Amino acid sequence: MIIILKQNINLRDKEYLRSFLEDKGFKVREIIGEAETIFGAVGNISIDLRQVEILSGVSRVIPISKPYKLASRELKKENTIVNIGRVKIGGNRIAVIAGPCAVESKEQMFKAAQAVRESGAVMLRGGAFKPRTSPYSFQGMGEEGLKILKDAGDSVGLPVVSEIVGTEYVDMMKDYVDVFQIGARNMQNFELLKAVGAIGMPVVLKRGLSATIEEWLMAAEYLMAHGSDNIILCERGIRTFETYTRNTLDLSAIPVVQKLSHLPIIVDPSHATGLRAKVPPMALAAIAAGADGLVVEVHPDPDNAMSDGPQSLYPEEFEKLMRDLQALSPVVGKEIEKIHENRPINVRTTDKASNIIDKNIAFQGVQGAYSEKAIHRYFGDDVIAVPQPEFIDVFETVLQGKASFGVIPVENSLAGTINENIDLLLRYPDIAVVGEYKLRIIHNLIGMPGAVLKDIRKVYSHPQGLAQCADFFEKHKEMKGIPFYDTAGAVEHLSDLKDPSCAAIAGEEAARVYGMNIIKESIETNPRNYTKFFILTRADRAEYEQANRAAFVFSTPDKPGALFSCLKVLADSGINMNKLESRPIQGKPWQYMFFLSVDIPEDSHAFENALDKLRNFSEDLRVLGKYKVD
Ligand code: PEP
Ligand code: MN
Repeated sequence: MIIILKQNINLRDKEYLRSFLEDKGFKVREIIGEAETIFGAVGNISIDLRQVEILSGVSRVIPISKPYKLASRELKKENTIVNIGRVKIGGNRIAVIAGPCAVESKEQMFKAAQAVRESGAVMLRGGAFKPRTSPYSFQGMGEEGLKILKDAGDSVGLPVVSEIVGTEYVDMMKDYVDVFQIGARNMQNFELLKAVGAIGMPVVLKRGLSATIEEWLMAAEYLMAHGSDNIILCERGIRTFETYTRNTLDLSAIPVVQKLSHLPIIVDPSHATGLRAKVPPMALAAIAAGADGLVVEVHPDPDNAMSDGPQSLYPEEFEKLMRDLQALSPVVGKEIEKIHENRPINVRTTDKASNIIDKNIAFQGVQGAYSEKAIHRYFGDDVIAVPQPEFIDVFETVLQGKASFGVIPVENSLAGTINENIDLLLRYPDIAVVGEYKLRIIHNLIGMPGAVLKDIRKVYSHPQGLAQCADFFEKHKEMKGIPFYDTAGAVEHLSDLKDPSCAAIAGEEAARVYGMNIIKESIETNPRNYTKFFILTRADRAEYEQANRAAFVFSTPDKPGALFSCLKVLADSGINMNKLESRPIQGKPWQYMFFLSVDIPEDSHAFENALDKLRNFSEDLRVLGKYKVD
């Protein structure tokens, strides 16, 4: 059962409730969610729910209808994010685990580790105990293999995952692996599930060869009931009548599981297909279907692999797949998970004074704004997004050292440049651009809980939000768009209005933050709707190593061909321009500044030389920032 606690429950009542349930034989889990704290009580005991409902501090008691309890979405509404050191799996990330089927030698593993790390994998795989169909096939290197796997992972800074095949290995393996894998053949080895669950470490739980989704979730329940909360489900294909591929990849399991469970789900296209050429298309399809990540077999020399060579990617193929995933990620509104070292890499972290406020990142708007989402996508979940009333306050907060970075929108793919922010960049020479982030914008129609589409008459949003949903308003002439200062602010306003005929257009986060409902998802006219954000910091903190993009401004003398001569310098130096915008110069009517963003060529001297030349043809050239884009 799920016991929803009153917000003001005191510690004594909470502890009484816990021991009351435990005395009756329940296992109790406390789950602290965004909106409420709950106790999940599971066990094979029947009890009259009213006995719990009357206890002090209890708000409501709801029975869980599914046979799996701890794994069920009924118990926990929010997605579980599994933390493995610096790596996170779940939420808005695409985490890619890669490596060979089996550990074969030190040389093979170190080569594989290097290759997959370079291409962007966040975890290294390698089997040391191989559950092979034939007793005569290579069975794995055992503990010796685990040592190699761990050393190879350490050599490139990747956590490692390896399969466990028997309870007797739990103690030995826990010192070598960061994540246990329970293989398809062992999904219903209940003794193994109990023993691995009791260790409390993260587990990749593969779907059994012929397991139903319910059986699979029940296996996860075994792990959770015995003490592990961090389960990553892995769809790896199931047995069907089809024999062309090794298994049949059940992609529909992804959305099904996501509805039933809060646990992250990843896909193994290698074992699902058994054929190298089929791995990349199915990997992309899995991500398109909503998977939280992939496990891909990659071998430095697949032709001589001791197991699963025909389905293992060559390192170059894996690199290509990662690039394709990069292109796909904004479409599904996710970010490829990376090993977060000290992002952004081009900002000094040794600046002592700033360490205190390093976690504060300023943005304009209220909680739930798209800028806030961009902050967490770019910096991760551990930073504090600090709302500011106006864009200028973002600049001031960063300048005064109250936030270490600021995040501002600079351009929308449909509505164009946000000129106010370009002007602010010109006005604040002590602020530098140190990064950029592109976020896919999905607008939703959001209303009061219980509000329905046909009753909506007034729709509040930022003018850009309203404009980007023009087709929706065309179809719903009964609705009137009302401009508001920002999108998330409009949702906050709704929660004050409490009027079921009013709605707002904003992102899903805003609906969640203000306890509102999404009436209609994704109502933007054009799904190719992206906003580019600039990451700002104080110019004296910015460092420009490894930069591959630059933003700068200059003005030109008032004479024929002035702009042409400047652009010719860039063209002659082979510098690709991604943006050119003219802005009126304040106080000088009819004179213009030009704002540019360009790719810095590999030979950065060519870029510096070009800038020097440019200074001869232009006036007031100022570099706003150099930074790295992926
Ligand atoms: C493996 O990942 O190496 C493996 C044997 O997978 P599965 O259990 O899915 O067959
Ligand atoms: Mn394999």
